[in-house]
Amino acid sequence: MELEMIEDSITERIRAMNARVQGLKEMDLYFYNQPITELRGGSRVLVNGREMGMYASYSYLGLVGHPKINAAAHAAIDQYGTGTHGVRTLAGTLKLHEELEQKIAEFKQAEAAVTYTSGYVTNLTVVSTLVGRGDYVISDKLNHASIVDGCMMSGAKFLRFRHNDMESLEQRLQQVESGAAKLVIADAVFSMDGDLIDFPKMVDLCRRYNAWLMIDEAHSLGVLGKTGRGIEEHYNMPGSIDIKMGTLSKTIPSVGGYIAGKKDLIEYLRHTSRAYIFSAALPPAQAAAAKAAFEIILEEPWRVEKLNLNTHQFINGLKERGFDTLLTETAIVPVVCGTDELAFSMTAMAQHEDTFVLPVVSPAVPPGLARLRATVTAAHEPDEIEHAMDVIYDAGKKIGIVS
Ligand code: PMP
Repeated sequence: MELEMIEDSITERIRAMNARVQGLKEMDLYFYNQPITELRGGSRVLVNGREMGMYASYSYLGLVGHPKINAAAHAAIDQYGTGTHGVRTLAGTLKLHEELEQKIAEFKQAEAAVTYTSGYVTNLTVVSTLVGRGDYVISDKLNHASIVDGCMMSGAKFLRFRHNDMESLEQRLQQVESGAAKLVIADAVFSMDGDLIDFPKMVDLCRRYNAWLMIDEAHSLGVLGKTGRGIEEHYNMPGSIDIKMGTLSKTIPSVGGYIAGKKDLIEYLRHTSRAYIFSAALPPAQAAAAKAAFEIILEEPWRVEKLNLNTHQFINGLKERGFDTLLTETAIVPVVCGTDELAFSMTAMAQHEDTFVLPVVSPAVPPGLARLRATVTAAHEPDEIEHAMDVIYDAGKKIGIVS
């Protein structure tokens, strides 16, 4: 017997979204979820049977497929198998988890670290563990969805300040009832625009107003600072962040998330954060891969240098060709197209010329600011970057974004 469809607002929402997706597919303008079937070196991938230059990767230092990282993952499977025995507090903790957390603490110059199974879950569980009813959480308007969700789940009073506007942050801090606990959160590098938070002013405000500071380093780990240690190294301000959050799924070619900070904080999270207590441990291969990746960042410092050179070439080259790349200073380079349709057309033309870029459209970004969200990595060579920029330029000229 087949279940009858219930006619209500849930069904309406499902139908509306699926109709939008189906419409784009029919017009050949649907670009999401295309399976990659092969890695071809660090900078090229096989998609739909075609080799393309990869300009949509988070593997900022080009570490996906690194032989030492692959070998570490293989060895962990040989030693421990593919899973764990459950949640960390019960039988899920392996020696490997402790070694990874020690490695992260060292790399982030913190007393201790704790890992979770994704970056998304890390933000959700940590924000909602640290603050609750009666407390305040103050967040940049463009913070990642996982932070926003953590803030909403926490039950704390949720205040937002204008993007990267420290006067607006100060106004929010002044709104807090006296004596209430406050947590201020921002991305170090914003995931859609590639710009940096005004870190020195934010640190100063948090100190002056006695607020805890949490920084999400998803897009700054391995990217900012001479040795890739992140935003504190970039500004030469060690010890400024109370809660150092990052992911193991971008520069670190694994999956998972971490918090690094003072021993007391980490011990508290191990015994109170629900994603640690009630969800299974990070699989051995992924933990071993992550640990090896932190070692390689330090052993192969040329990768951070090369990423910086490639980033400058990519941003400057696109600007010279007449594109608006907003305020990016990092490997995330928005190429503003305007309407969603223009972003889809640009994507189609670039992919047709074997340059793999993807569009970001509303509601992920404001209407009228649809874009290619292009990324460059340490795996690209200068002539490849030049070629990709020429492809993007030809597409932009055809649809009238640049002349
Ligand atoms: N924070 C930021 C700023 C991100 O961009 C992302 C990933 N898109 C996350 C957190 C979530 O990390 P993960 O994909 O590892 O779950």
